[in-house]
Amino acid sequence: MKTTSTVIFLAAYFLAASLCRAAPDTVDRIRVVMPPNSDEIVKNIASILQHQITSRCEAKLITGDDAELTVKLSIEPGIGAEGFRISDDADGSIKITGNDRRGLLFGVGKFLRSSRYDQGGFTPSTWRGESVPKCSYRAAYLATHFRNFYEAAPIEEVVHYVESLGLWGYNTLVIHYPTWAFNGISDPAAREWLDRFKHVMRRAKSIGLAVGIIQGGAEGYKNSPKEFYKTKVPGEWRGNFGIGLCPSKPAALTYLHNMYSELLDDIKKDVELDCFISWPYDEGGCACKDCWPWGARGFINNSKWFAVEVRRRFPECKMIISTWGFENENDTNPDGEWIGLERELAKDESWADYILADGHNNYFPKYILTEGVPGNLPLVNFPEISMFDQTPWGGYGANPAPSHFEELWSRIKHIAVGGMPYSEGIYEDLNKAIIAGFYWEPDRKAEETVKEYAAFEFSPGATDAMLEVVRIFEKNHRRDRIGPSAIRAFELVEKAEKSITPQARTAWRWRIFYLRALIDKELFQHEGKREGEVMKKAFAELTDIYHAQGCWFKPPKIK
Ligand SMILES: [Zn+2]
Repeated sequence: MKTTSTVIFLAAYFLAASLCRAAPDTVDRIRVVMPPNSDEIVKNIASILQHQITSRCEAKLITGDDAELTVKLSIEPGIGAEGFRISDDADGSIKITGNDRRGLLFGVGKFLRSSRYDQGGFTPSTWRGESVPKCSYRAAYLATHFRNFYEAAPIEEVVHYVESLGLWGYNTLVIHYPTWAFNGISDPAAREWLDRFKHVMRRAKSIGLAVGIIQGGAEGYKNSPKEFYKTKVPGEWRGNFGIGLCPSKPAALTYLHNMYSELLDDIKKDVELDCFISWPYDEGGCACKDCWPWGARGFINNSKWFAVEVRRRFPECKMIISTWGFENENDTNPDGEWIGLERELAKDESWADYILADGHNNYFPKYILTEGVPGNLPLVNFPEISMFDQTPWGGYGANPAPSHFEELWSRIKHIAVGGMPYSEGIYEDLNKAIIAGFYWEPDRKAEETVKEYAAFEFSPGATDAMLEVVRIFEKNHRRDRIGPSAIRAFELVEKAEKSITPQARTAWRWRIFYLRALIDKELFQHEGKREGEVMKKAFAELTDIYHAQGCWFKPPKIK
């Protein structure tokens, strides 16, 4: 009898011991070792790794020998452009190797996302292997206007946000200088804007990212002479702030050339541009008899001028020619813009490196799908992740839509070399991660990214619940279609909240999920009416998170 109980005891002991060994150890003293002679970029990537760990749990970064975990950073070409490897080193440390500096940044991102953060400390990733991105152009376009988050938040918040996009695999930051908001480049508001975003671009470069700007459309300044104004273009979807200029008027063309030469010179003083996106509409485009069809005539002259002037200042800069606004579901190219662009590229395509194409909401330009990409150039897309089917944008918190974006991507994933999502703020952070997942691995399922995001930003224990929440959010996305599942989503969020660390619970990424669930439940219970103290407080908190007090599409205000 005694012997039997001893056997059972020993069996239980060894089973427990083996289970303990199988689970990776939680540590709270970590050392990060950089390669010898690291440059500023590698040092900055190491700082991001350290900052991410210490802001998510109580673990400490140390430099001495008594670390419980050593993470070595390394750069070794041969993995594949921008790829990385995570491996165990002979001395027991974990090694993150980038093929290049960007690969190191993306490897650090993968390591961080597959590690876990608990009140007990940090549990390092058990993910091992190599990964190389399939799409080469993976940009995030931040719409820097309207006093949205990017314009209004403290600049360090914006910089940290850009770093987080780098961790997800974005290799390029793109912004737009909104000429229509300023009275010339010497306008104090323009100076403030340029100082701010040149700083943000420099900081993006300091972690190895590429940077670019979108300009074009013959977009003027607020105080451009009225006699230079364009003839309004047909189609409301093409956008119109009313200050686009007509480059077929000789004095207007001189004015535009001076204006954009001045802008490129100004940027050149501080930042080297890696890509330039020539944009046809919104703002801009002219329908006069000498410019129209804009995409086949005025816009092409404009883009060719930019190609010369941009490359004169930034010889390595890639020219991306946008076809945004060439067609939509109601107007599939009656004006010959595609044909005109094809004709010009057939004569000479030295002014174009890529074609950008996309439509509004569920539409992707038919021309590309049936006729191919003009000039057979590499194609990049422009998914609209911010404004689709919800107004005010971001006004209700997080707006994830994995199925929607997977469906849109499936139409072109076999022909695209990447793209850049259109972003108005941080509420669509998960959509940005989903798109980054597609660009890294075109066949990746959106929900795989949702799970990876939830495990990293919230808790591995909250992953299943948050996946269900995201499915409900997408189903209830349109404000006139919020169903009883909103009650279930709120219950799941409240339950999940119990399993996450205090750091994650108070972070904005959790709050925008929590508040979305709360607002949807309240809207369902109030038959769609925005009313009551609960909603009032939730909208006010969202406004604070976005720093959107001065933004015209800020969350609703309840009196
Ligand atoms: Zn014109």
